[in-house]
Amino acid sequence: MAKQEDKFKRVISHAKEYGYVFQSSEIYDGLSAVYDYAQNGVALKKNIREYWWKAMVQLNENIVGLDSAIFMHPTTWKASGHVDAFSDPLIDNKDSKKRYRADVLVEDYVAKLDNKIEKEVKKAAKRFGDAFNKDEFLATNQRVLGYKEKGDAILKRLGQSLEKEDLADVKALIEELEIACPLSGSKNWTDVKQFNLMFGTKLGASAENTMDLYLRPETAQGIFVNFLNVQKTGRMKIPFGIAQTGKAFRNEIVARQFIFRMREFEQMEMQFFIKPGTQLDWFKHWKETRMKWHLSLGMGQDNYRFHDHEKLAHYADAATDIEFRFPFGFKELEGIHSRTDFDLKAHEEHSGKKLQFFDHEDNKSYVPYVLETSIGLDRMFLAVFSNALQEEELENGSTRTVLKLPAVLAPIKAAILPLVKKDGLPEVARKIMDDLKWDFEVTYDEKDAVGRRYRRQDANGTPFCITVDHDTLDDNSVTIRHRDTMEQQRVKISELKEIISKEVSMKSWLMKM
Ligand code: ATP
Repeated sequence: MAKQEDKFKRVISHAKEYGYVFQSSEIYDGLSAVYDYAQNGVALKKNIREYWWKAMVQLNENIVGLDSAIFMHPTTWKASGHVDAFSDPLIDNKDSKKRYRADVLVEDYVAKLDNKIEKEVKKAAKRFGDAFNKDEFLATNQRVLGYKEKGDAILKRLGQSLEKEDLADVKALIEELEIACPLSGSKNWTDVKQFNLMFGTKLGASAENTMDLYLRPETAQGIFVNFLNVQKTGRMKIPFGIAQTGKAFRNEIVARQFIFRMREFEQMEMQFFIKPGTQLDWFKHWKETRMKWHLSLGMGQDNYRFHDHEKLAHYADAATDIEFRFPFGFKELEGIHSRTDFDLKAHEEHSGKKLQFFDHEDNKSYVPYVLETSIGLDRMFLAVFSNALQEEELENGSTRTVLKLPAVLAPIKAAILPLVKKDGLPEVARKIMDDLKWDFEVTYDEKDAVGRRYRRQDANGTPFCITVDHDTLDDNSVTIRHRDTMEQQRVKISELKEIISKEVSMKSWLMKM
């Protein structure tokens, strides 16, 4: 556990030190759960967005893009269910005045039971040595079974109480488990209340004419309300999809874990409109397709898993999460939901306008079903960044910090380094840079010994360093060093473009899908 926390702390400080992510308004002591993307962060984020956009829109004839406004007519959120049902159960501790998500307090309690199980396993593994059989131990050890049974019973009761909106029982559960405020240690709790996660704001200047609005909590609704506009003007035939990326806002109660859970974040969503009855086939299709997209980045199959939902949202008839192994464990990265005709029907009812598709083959109109893929851009950023950050022991006994970002996503593709700051080497290096900059993000660095410059670029995630030395002046060749292997190759300046391109072009990465 401590190791995981250390790793996570390193991720956060590295992101700051190398100009990836800053706390928002830091000079005013920051704003909780709001972050700014710095010079490298913005480029990594842009590259992830583009990698998604190409895979979803450019490569699919029947998926088109959209950029709908953040402000939407307030009835949108009534129709979508967000006004009535987009809330978390919260509880306050009367002594520390800290607010918590009641369900998270209970889940944290169960996580502690899981930790106890892990400790038992470790102890037993030590005691039995090679003869230890973990599965058998988990299935038979009385203490482990006791913890497991207790945890399952607690989660079951929590789930049932939340489903029935029995908030008094959620509080009773917290009291029965004697859960204390992590800050004050006090068990002096308020009642549990529902707290809507949408941020409200106002449109208009005069008091009589203002309109209460919400900042959108998801980008999906902008797609639904434009369904017919896009279908008609684009002469789209079902099945077809509409994709968009953009900001969403949620007043998260428990906003921690860096950019994993933010109050202002960016989503990349695609709503795929299909014929009713075909949803389970499309669900399977998009589950596989989205997983292939993730795996194409080469971040390790073991770091992903599906988590199929048993308890479904009010609008869904099948749902799964793609979970990623973050530094704090497996957590949701992307959701794939079969949303049925819930949203389009709700917007039909609230707007009085038909949102239907006329199917020439069947000679009838229907409200399409929807299959959604929804991924948080910031979460994807955290997945990529945290997985890339590594401390490596080198053969000479020293260590290096290296950010092994997939080359296709790296903010800077190559650094051009003159070996020394004289003898005409900077001029040649600048010329190479001026040539490459038309095709790639490149940087120039002449400060410090070349070894230190290599380390700096390693920590920054730059896949290639190109060193210009005295021989370059005679043979038009340079040394190209690969970040991950540290291998160095002597190549002609004229070959650089092709070498870099092969490793960083979106085409070659996406073709692995
Ligand atoms: P969670 O259970 O973690 O709160 P969710 O199930 O509410 O997430 P969705 O509504 O399905 O999330 O949103 C789709 C995606 O948007 C999520 O898979 C996640 O990647 C991202 N996302 C949701 N909430 C946040 C947030 N507060 N900060 C950053 N990303 C988020």
